[in-house]
Amino acid sequence: MSSHKHTIVIVGYGGMGSYHTQLIEENGRLEVAGTFDLLAERRSASEAAGYTAYASYEEVLADPKVGTILIATPNDVHKEIALAAFRAGKHVICEKPVAMSSDEFIEMTQAAESAGRVLMVHQNRRWDEDFRVIKEMYDHGTIGSLFQLESRVHGANGIPGDWRHVKAQGGGMLLDWGVHLLDQLLFMIDSKVASVSSSLSFILGNEVDDGFEAVLQFENGVKAIVEVGTTNFITLPRWYVKGTEGTGVIEDWSLTGRIVTRNQESEKLEPTPIRAGVGLTKTMAPPSEGATITEALPPAAELASSFYTNFADVIEGAAEPIVKNPEVLRVLKLIEAIFAAAETNQTIKDFDLY
Ligand code: NAD
Repeated sequence: MSSHKHTIVIVGYGGMGSYHTQLIEENGRLEVAGTFDLLAERRSASEAAGYTAYASYEEVLADPKVGTILIATPNDVHKEIALAAFRAGKHVICEKPVAMSSDEFIEMTQAAESAGRVLMVHQNRRWDEDFRVIKEMYDHGTIGSLFQLESRVHGANGIPGDWRHVKAQGGGMLLDWGVHLLDQLLFMIDSKVASVSSSLSFILGNEVDDGFEAVLQFENGVKAIVEVGTTNFITLPRWYVKGTEGTGVIEDWSLTGRIVTRNQESEKLEPTPIRAGVGLTKTMAPPSEGATITEALPPAAELASSFYTNFADVIEGAAEPIVKNPEVLRVLKLIEAIFAAAETNQTIKDFDLY
């Protein structure tokens, strides 16, 4: 491990750029050497927070003490900022979605490779505890073999901010939240995506999607339903997962949730019919007493290290990246398939993700 701290300049000192300063400060191996933003008011905000505000990107690139550029600008300019960084011999951490298309990302990875520099994409939601609880259940069969996963995020605030409304800047919810939810699924499920169907919503009348639903069928039989909504005044659970031996639910970010499994010890009794609406049902009656066990969620699966520690290890040549570029490329290609499936109203099967 290197004894000196790796210096980073944050390009784009907006919402996420300023959050990165906090996250980097919490990590002993990296330090923020300053920021650069096109807007004078954001440069003043950076100075006010105690971070040098560079006057231009050229000045950042010319500074030999800067080892890494962290890109936290709107999505349409990630590529050009990254390519200039590689030309100047800097490493790059880039916010998600890393690029506007898979082709753009391929150009970025090739530039990184030619320059012998690291490009790592901030797919930080692989570290989310709710996701890691589901990963634990998937990896260890806590509720039997997981065969259906429903991953949702619901808000009621519409599309926030300015550039997120603009198609040419990479706006819309599939690129914004979709990239996280899809990255989580592809990171966890070690099987190829066999087919995709989807629909995008334009309820708010923007030129970009304000939400979407996608259904992914994996070759190993797992089905995943992914949904993002921004007009949901009542939210559905963050996760609802079904396994061969039980069902799990995680309601929210605070990890309110439970698993209910079949009680192997209990005698198999027919459920007692219940009145449901104006009808009678045995099929939809609750399980007979003692037939199931309700338990707390399992502890979250651990990842080898935090994003930033992993980045420091990677640039020191001491570890493989946890977020690997071929995985990022696969997610971008999947997003392209989801857009195509929605546009053509077809299930897409002929994949070129791999
Ligand atoms: P934002 O609008 O709050 O901030 C973007 C900043 O970039 C603005 O201050 C803007 O002036 C500046 N900027 C624009 N073009 C620039 C350029 N060429 N050079 C320098 N500065 C420039 O946006 P945000 O919400 O912070 O999002 C920024 C990026 O972070 C996006 O890619 C977004 O998807 C990503 N993001 C990631 C997460 C996450 O959890 N990983 C969360 C939020 C945002």
